Amino acid sequence: MRKVQYDFPLSDFTSEADFKKIKEFSKDKETPFLIVDLSKVEKMYDKLVKNMPYVKIYYAVKANPLDEVISSLRDKGSNFDAATVYEIDQLLRLGVQPERISYGNTIKKEKDIAYAYQKGVRMFATDSESDLHKIARNAPGSRVFFRLLTESDGADWPLSRKFGAHPDVIYELIIEAHNMGLEPYGLSFHVGSQQRDIGQWDNALSKCKYLFEAVALEGIKLKMINLGGGFPAKYMSPANELETYAHEILRFIQEDFGEDHPEIIIEPGRSLVADAGVIVTEVIMISKKAKLNQYHWVYLDIGKFGGLIETLDECIKYPIYSESEGYEEEVILAGPTCDSMDILYEDHKYVFPESLHENERLYIFTTGAYTQSYSSIAFNGLPPLKAYIMR
Ligand code: PLP
Repeated sequence: MRKVQYDFPLSDFTSEADFKKIKEFSKDKETPFLIVDLSKVEKMYDKLVKNMPYVKIYYAVKANPLDEVISSLRDKGSNFDAATVYEIDQLLRLGVQPERISYGNTIKKEKDIAYAYQKGVRMFATDSESDLHKIARNAPGSRVFFRLLTESDGADWPLSRKFGAHPDVIYELIIEAHNMGLEPYGLSFHVGSQQRDIGQWDNALSKCKYLFEAVALEGIKLKMINLGGGFPAKYMSPANELETYAHEILRFIQEDFGEDHPEIIIEPGRSLVADAGVIVTEVIMISKKAKLNQYHWVYLDIGKFGGLIETLDECIKYPIYSESEGYEEEVILAGPTCDSMDILYEDHKYVFPESLHENERLYIFTTGAYTQSYSSIAFNGLPPLKAYIMR
């Protein structure tokens, strides 16, 4: 089988049989579109459960909010991490009970907290005094978990700065929550998405241990740690296997908390759905090397604004497959819109066969997470990315 870029064989991303299925399924469909293989999402869920048996899963809906994805995870027994009341509404519409939903965004309008509470949601994330007061006023008696600041070092897609607070601030918030009649339930953190350094969970867990002990001295017993997301998907530079992440993280928990550890929650997004997705795109144009143009430019019918926003800063490097043959050349890959920001990869050169041609279909693997859900804007009049479910 031909290579997908550099040294990665296509078989790292799909089997020959699956690739045939993808091609057959896409034959009559107009590009660009995303295909999500639900059986792969379900397999990933089972793998997580197998490797982290006592851990409660809250799927991060934002990663891929397709109804079919939510429904299949609902049937598997997953809980859900919602970012907004719109996601909460979607979950309720799909029959997810409110007890299985956590309102995991630390940035919330007062009326949205009241709405979630009225719908039966009783678990909220927070990291600031302002948000905590809103929760106390609008969701009395609810469980609250406090998000710790992390540095996101080692993550392809960092989630630091905007979220979380220093342990000293969290300590004060916990005491305040208790005094306001809320239930300080636990702590959370997110080590950054596609986190390659498993040790980051260890660092965050030691902050949790410190806080568990500090507030216990005030008579407050925290009961839960939410380890967030950050688990890997298969992009161009391989990360460790999920089994290694699970094994190491469970070991860190044992080391810090022993057998009598608190309830453990995870909020996987990318790791559950990314590998299940393939975007099928078409080469619109190839602009050949010229005097002032050191590289070929290859323009696709999908770009940053059509679903590949995670190519910002070239953070996420998708495996892209061409069926053409021949000697390989470095190219600059760009999207279709009239915005010069819409370049996918320029610093990191992709290598394509010289026989790559206009109208050819390319297959972008590992695109089940943070693609279609980002493409809702009709920039340049382009419609949102279509998605099809395959089983
Ligand atoms: N939990 C929260 C609060 C998040 O913001 C995110 C991603 O943005 C996730 C979980 C999912 O993270 P990942 O996709 O790395 O699994």
